[in-house]
Amino acid sequence: MAIGKKYIYFFGSGKADGNGAMKDLLGGKGAGLAEMTNAGVPVPPGFTITTEVCNLFYDLGKRVPDGLDGEMRGYMTKVEEALGGKYTFGDVSRPLLVSVRSGSKFSMPGMMDTVLNLGLNDQTINGLIRMSGNERFAWDAYRRFIQMFGNVVMGIEKDQFEHIIHEAKKKKKVHLDLELTAEDLKVLVAKFKVKVKQIAKRDFPQDHWEQLLMARDAVFGSWNNPRAITYRKLNDIPGNLGTAVNVQSMVFGNMGETSATGVGFTRNPSTGTKEFYGEYLTNAQGEDVVAGIRTPRPIVNLEKEMPAVYKQLRETTTMLEKHYRDVQDFEFTVQEGTLFMLQTRTGKRTAHAAVKIAVDMVGEGLITKDEAVLRVEPASLDQLLHPIIDPKAKIQVIAKGLPASPGAASGKVVFTADEAVKQAKKDKVILVRPETTPDDIHGMDAAKGILTARGGMTSHAAVVARGMGKPCVAGCESIKVDLKAERFSVNGVTVKLNDWITIDGGTGRVILGKVPTVEPTVSGDFGTLMKWADEVRTLGVRANADIPRDAKMAMQFGAEGIGLCRTEHMFFAADRLPHVQQMILADTTEDREKALAKLLPMQRSDFKGLFETMGGLPVTIRLLDPPLHEFLPKREDLMVEVAVMQAKKAPKASITKKEKLLRRVEDLHELNPMLGHRGCRLGIVYPEITRMQTRAIIEAACDLAKKGKKVIPEIMVPLVGIKKELQNQKEIIKSVAEEVMKKKGVRIDYLIGTMIELPRAAVIADEIAKEAEFFSFGTNDLTQTTFGFSRDDAGKFIGYYTENNILEKDPFQTLDQEGVGQLIKMGVTKGRSTRQNLKVGICGEHGGDPASVEFCFKAGLNYVSCSPFRVPIARLAAAQAKLKEKGMGGSVSK
Ligand code: PEP
Ligand code: MG
Repeated sequence: MAIGKKYIYFFGSGKADGNGAMKDLLGGKGAGLAEMTNAGVPVPPGFTITTEVCNLFYDLGKRVPDGLDGEMRGYMTKVEEALGGKYTFGDVSRPLLVSVRSGSKFSMPGMMDTVLNLGLNDQTINGLIRMSGNERFAWDAYRRFIQMFGNVVMGIEKDQFEHIIHEAKKKKKVHLDLELTAEDLKVLVAKFKVKVKQIAKRDFPQDHWEQLLMARDAVFGSWNNPRAITYRKLNDIPGNLGTAVNVQSMVFGNMGETSATGVGFTRNPSTGTKEFYGEYLTNAQGEDVVAGIRTPRPIVNLEKEMPAVYKQLRETTTMLEKHYRDVQDFEFTVQEGTLFMLQTRTGKRTAHAAVKIAVDMVGEGLITKDEAVLRVEPASLDQLLHPIIDPKAKIQVIAKGLPASPGAASGKVVFTADEAVKQAKKDKVILVRPETTPDDIHGMDAAKGILTARGGMTSHAAVVARGMGKPCVAGCESIKVDLKAERFSVNGVTVKLNDWITIDGGTGRVILGKVPTVEPTVSGDFGTLMKWADEVRTLGVRANADIPRDAKMAMQFGAEGIGLCRTEHMFFAADRLPHVQQMILADTTEDREKALAKLLPMQRSDFKGLFETMGGLPVTIRLLDPPLHEFLPKREDLMVEVAVMQAKKAPKASITKKEKLLRRVEDLHELNPMLGHRGCRLGIVYPEITRMQTRAIIEAACDLAKKGKKVIPEIMVPLVGIKKELQNQKEIIKSVAEEVMKKKGVRIDYLIGTMIELPRAAVIADEIAKEAEFFSFGTNDLTQTTFGFSRDDAGKFIGYYTENNILEKDPFQTLDQEGVGQLIKMGVTKGRSTRQNLKVGICGEHGGDPASVEFCFKAGLNYVSCSPFRVPIARLAAAQAKLKEKGMGGSVSK
């Protein structure tokens, strides 16, 4: 029956219904198969059921649209024809077997389900035995099929089957699956069927069509399994994309020594080096390579073993890389000497590799500089900005595995994913496993690094860790993991639960204990890519830095100024706090001024240090912002102290002093300090604070200006919501600045501006701009006050909100464009309506978040300001925003 809409796309015989651009509809895998087929790559024929059907499946209450089953039969006939009519689905003498695989728009390795060898039953098994001439292989294929189908489609725990295999091996006194004979496997099949009946309360389906339809529905159903949902959340993949289902004729890599299966990359995905990279196993099925059960051989060995196949593989994959103009991650199978390509897709890579590959490909003339800038995901640069092991450190290397994902991490050893999650709440942990599976994803997320004993560079642990940007050492065969005893041993060393180790995912080293690390730099290819990004972007990038050390780091990372210096951080230093407290405790203005006078030279030298470090670039200094009680001891602690002093009969004078402090703390106590006496409200009630800070800023600037140094201070008034608040502070600032400049006999340029961090400020931005020479959006407070979410308490429920889709993302991390963003747009437009050349920036946490940076660019901001470590991320995000505005697509792979 025809169903009108096209829900199924065929590929085979050198021609496909779809093409590589149809990832939304066919998923990455389906689109790749179509594109490869069209390009003449030897792909086993098959068909793809679209992601649209997945969404319909859920809309219809887990049912596919009517008529789809019939359509599938027609497509199966086409597959049979494409194989030259040599095999028929369900045929007893020459059965066609198929794989049924998931595949969504973005790759989600191992997160959804796959069924292989479908079509086998008690009759077709005989056909397979006859065709292959290999009884053991056929029974092995059948037992694998029942195992996978039983687990994925019928929901039977893997352990149930593993247990039967284990018992069989025990009985025969053998260790490897390979040591089981055809006869043993035949017995296993019978036992598996009994187990299926016992648990699923029905027979294992013998009808090949029933098998296919059930598998199809199970794969659609796996779109919403818990690990797929977790993976999507971690990788920002929307839940409404759906997965396609690919039904493809099986080819076998386990038909003896002339057969093989493998995976590879056209370049090294860990380092980016241009080398043919991958691994394979002879006489094996694809799952054996990725599951990490047998450690595969490097792909270069294939050249010796199967020279003709190797040559064809290199040519095909080289052609694919040129065709897609990006690194390809491919799967292949050799069936009795004939090569089949099973899959190709954009290769996931570490940030390090992404940068090198992008720069190299420009050098090779494969892509343009602009494309290179678009190839690297800004947030992933974080991986390059993390510390590496100090080369001078004395370390005890206890083992060496594969360098699966770079970076160094120290942590306490844990052996299960659940334990990792639990312990990570209080400590850094390294997850150590024999190998990881998709069920470990939550533990991998919680851990600082992952160490596995088995598995290659493309094992689950390696692929997922690279995606997460976490250090990983895989296939460290010398460590013997004893999960039960919660320890591993290697070369006479035993490492127990909670012992510290360090892993270096760049070299594969496993090191005993904690190890010192050194800071990274922006040089080499990274520096080149950042230079190209700077050539493109028009949005400025500054850093939030309070002290010269951070400012220096910001400069090294390419900051073009300081967008926020939080002066209160200077008040917390041990030598200053007593003066700050004295200032707060003062009963009179005179006493307060005395305390402030002690702080003045300290602040002046702070600012001098910052100005000098920034070498003439603008420095935005914010006046004191937090509520004063933050500088005093806690009320509860003081109450206890007073009580103890009284009980111990301490000298009266000291008790009186403590009591006075307690009274002042009680005076300052607020129920809602975030909305209390803070921001410009402090400088208004205590103008002497603003006077002291202004004096320190202008004196520092004048002193440097006298020495011929360029200084551009920008004095910023926090938490303004009323025009008169700004007027009030501006008057004070101006009068002090004039007085200082007169006294110093030098004039400097400086600006007075304000933060926009209250909705009222955004609403009356036109009025405020009459007084302000610049705006800086304080989106931390603006988010708090727009949502009415307390910055300090929102953690209690934001997680629930994002998990339950009430909010898509935490608005304190990535800007809420729909609400807070509107206020920003309004603030910019209104502000510039009364002051055309108003300089506008952002200095909330969002200034370093790529999506928020793009929004700020579109909203017309002059610059973003973020923590020093995020400066390169913001520079790249700003460049990408500009390129996207020019119409260049974001080809960054997820
Ligand atoms: C802000 O509110 O966004 C801001 C930068 O200031 P703070 O985080 O110091 O309140
Ligand atoms: Mg603020």
